[in-house]
Amino acid sequence: MIPVMKPWLGAEEAEAAAAAVASGWVAQGPRVAEFERAFAEFIGVPHAIAVSSCTTALHLCLIGAGVGPGDEVIVPSLSFIATANVVHHAGATPVCADVDAVTLNLTPESVRAVTTERTKAVIVVDQGGIPADLDAFASLGLAVVEDAACGAGSTYRGRPVGAGAALAAYSFHPRKLLTTGEGGMVTVQDEQTAVRLRRLREHAMSVSAADRHSSSQPVLEEYLEVAYNYRMTDIQAAIGLIQLRKLPEMVARRRELAARYQDAFSGLAGVTTAADPAYGTTNFQSFWVSWPDLDQEHVLKLLAGHGVSARRGIMASHLEPAYRGRSFAPLPVTERLTRHSVILPLFHQMTTAEQDTVIAAVRDAHGD
Ligand SMILES: *Cc1c(COP(=O)(O)O)cnc(C)c1O
Repeated sequence: MIPVMKPWLGAEEAEAAAAAVASGWVAQGPRVAEFERAFAEFIGVPHAIAVSSCTTALHLCLIGAGVGPGDEVIVPSLSFIATANVVHHAGATPVCADVDAVTLNLTPESVRAVTTERTKAVIVVDQGGIPADLDAFASLGLAVVEDAACGAGSTYRGRPVGAGAALAAYSFHPRKLLTTGEGGMVTVQDEQTAVRLRRLREHAMSVSAADRHSSSQPVLEEYLEVAYNYRMTDIQAAIGLIQLRKLPEMVARRRELAARYQDAFSGLAGVTTAADPAYGTTNFQSFWVSWPDLDQEHVLKLLAGHGVSARRGIMASHLEPAYRGRSFAPLPVTERLTRHSVILPLFHQMTTAEQDTVIAAVRDAHGD
């Protein structure tokens, strides 16, 4: 089967992980600090905080935005379910808003339509890598958190995605481009917020474990707030440093493959695909294809018959059992997109022959 995604990992990552193990320092330490500096520099922000996943990164972002019990946070239902779940983790209530059919993102209008006096923040998502139009949300009077889980390597108005966000969260799960197995990162502009989130990640200890271990004198720490263990390990960070160096090449290759898909499907009646928005570039973390009467089950089965492992379109969280029974405003675009789209294989080492197999299978499913 041609997989939907396969991380681009090699001997360099294996050696870097082995070196971390051999050093004896396997928990959060010098390699995490180095990965944070390199990532902050890559995005172009003053602070980056490595954590265990994008889910934990988003939780910290919401705390950083001042979200707590009694607040509402507006999210797209059309997203991986973690986007909605983290609002619960912060003690607040998620409120779903509809998305634009082209960018798959919230719009200022859809956010305004569900804003109440309790609304504290909005989470905009770089869906499938397509950058969110961050500036468009600036005048809503809400804290804006960028769910850049899929976004590392995409650009917004000429800068890396997340560069302009007060708070952004990235994922290093293998389903994204840059991977550390599991892992995530928070980027922050404000120094005070960065200091607090850095502490919250590590039980709110007044002295980090790394600082305590490197001191020749005994150092007694205090625990300043009730906090979390959201740390990344040095083994993961060692892999992340190599992967970060490879990211531009990953993006370039994905964009090449995506352009081939776009070309191949441009002649098919009613077909739309993932594409760059007017204001930025996508890393094509996901390449989705959609047409009005696309029957997901039928298409996925047919592709499987051709040896192609595809996925249903981006999920709609409000349709899952976890969110059933809650009342949300109607989400017609979300429900249409999630039903009538599929995500196709796209990975760094995909061959032209493999891609041609996928293209032929999609043509067959479309009936052209
Ligand atoms: C993958 C993903 C997440 C969760 O990332 P993890 O690192 O697995 O916690 C959150 N939001 C979006 C949009 C994602 O695609």
